[in-house]
Parts: sequence; C-alpha cells; structure tokens
Amino acid sequence: MSVALITGGSRGIGKATSILLAQQGYKVVINYRHDKPAAQQTASLITQAGGTALIIQADIADEQQVMAMFAEIDQHFGPVTALVNNAGILFQQSTIENLTAERINQVFATNVTGYFLCCREAVKRMAYRYGGAGGAIVNVSSAAARLGSPGEYVDYAASKGAIDTLTTGLSVEVAAQGIRVNGVRPGFIYTDMHASGGEAGRVDRVKNKLPMQRGGEPEEVAEAIAWLLSNKASYITGSFIDAAGGK
Ligand code: NAP
Repeated sequence: MSVALITGGSRGIGKATSILLAQQGYKVVINYRHDKPAAQQTASLITQAGGTALIIQADIADEQQVMAMFAEIDQHFGPVTALVNNAGILFQQSTIENLTAERINQVFATNVTGYFLCCREAVKRMAYRYGGAGGAIVNVSSAAARLGSPGEYVDYAASKGAIDTLTTGLSVEVAAQGIRVNGVRPGFIYTDMHASGGEAGRVDRVKNKLPMQRGGEPEEVAEAIAWLLSNKASYITGSFIDAAGGK
C-alpha cells in the first residue's frame, strides 16, 4: 500500500491533503511541529472514516529530526512512496527595511532547507539505485514565487522561488530513478497562515481583485496535489499547477 508523508499535515492545506489521500487509500503520516491537538484531530477524522494515519512531531528545519521521522515511518509503515512537502511559514507583513537576518534565515530554514532534507530522505527510499520502487513528490510552493509579495513578505516569496528551482532540478535528477517531482502553487487560500502575517482576513481583503473574485479552499489545492501524486499523472514531472484563481 502507498505511504504518504504530508509535512505540516495537521492544519490548512496539509490537513485537507492528508484527509483526501487517506480517502484514496494511502497510509498517511501527518507531520507537525507544535500543535499536537490539531494533528490528533486530523488523524482522528481519518481513522474514524476507516483510514490509516500516524502523527509525527518533527521540525523539518532540523536535519536530525527529519532523519528520525523517516526512520520512524520505515518502522511503522515501510518506506515513504509519496511525499508532500507542505510545511511552510511566514512572518509579520513588512517591507525589506525591517527584515532581519534572523527572520530571513528562519523562513529559509523551514521553507527551503526543510524541503531539501525531506526530498533527500524520500529519494534515498524511492530511487531504483537504492532498491526503491520509485515514488512521487509534490512541493507546495506559492503564487508568491511568481508575484514576489511586495510590501508583505518578499523573504517568503523568495523561499518559494527556491522551491520552484528545487522542483525543476530534482525532477530531472531523479526522473530515471522512477521518481516524479512536481509543484503546486496555491494563491489566496483560507487557512490560519495569514494570521502569522498579522492579517487573518487577508484573503477576504484581496478576493475581489482576483480574476475568479474569490479565495480558494484548502480542499481545492489538495485535489491538485493528489492528482500529481497519482498514476493519472504518470508522465508528468517538473511541472507546476497554479491553484490561484487565475492570478
Ligand atoms: P498553515 O495553515 O499555517 O499550516 C502550516 C502547517 O505547517 C502546520 O501544520 C504547522 O504545524 C506546519 N509547520 C510549520 N513549520 C513547520 C516546521 N518547521 N516543521 C514541521 N511542520 C511545520 O499553512 P497553510 O496555509 O496550510 O500552508 C501550507 C503550505 O501552502 C505552505 O507551504 C504555504 O507556504 C503554502 N501556501 C499557502 C497559501 C495560503 O494562502 N494559505 C498560499 C500559497 C502557498 P504546527 O501547527 O504544529 O506548527
């Protein structure tokens, strides 16, 4: 049976993805960093519906914790066959004058280094050259990679630009190893993330300026992620789906 790791699977887009993948028959690993009750609640929704879920606390920015997480999955379910690199952070909206090195490094440690580390551990388990059976990786980027988030969080946007480059490069590097690597770029999605930027109502503020005149739901992003992981996308790698209402 397929084993999917969803980083940041406890809330928002990761939660919707965890639930959808469980419905599709994956054994689901819900990673989280701080909020154990949220992870437990998501796991309960899955198990109550007859699915299989495991929660693992790990900070993806920490190499040892990432390695321990993958080892725990090996023990519990067998090696990961699908990775959704989803856990991401941003901080208070700000222009560049107020961005400190500490903040920029924190954003990049989770949004970039964390994605790299999880890709590395997944490739070690999926690649034919390590005896793996192949697999699929979806990196959750952002429309911010294209738009740059001026006046809000250029540091966050730049971290997502790095993820698009990771997706392009890794997809070619591991294509002959049976691993597909694709990206999904959400736009303005109703989750708690916007509160981290100091504006919980951000999606409603901008929604009328979007071509589709509305924000997106986490479930709409999860559908794109699940499709890219599935065999229906078997000839697709190094590609991106924008889930941004036309922006
Ligand atoms: P969210 O609601 O804020 O949830 C973030 C999740 O990531 C939580 O499960 C959180 O766990 C986890 N997390 C954060 N830092 C972590 C770390 N270092 N290690 C492990 N887990 C960590 O976020 P979201 O809005 O669903 O966003 C999910 C992804 O979509 C992110 O990559 C984000 O950049 C991207 N995205 C979102 C939007 C949007 O409008 N919402 C738009 C474009 C792109 P804890 O709660 O335990 O800390």
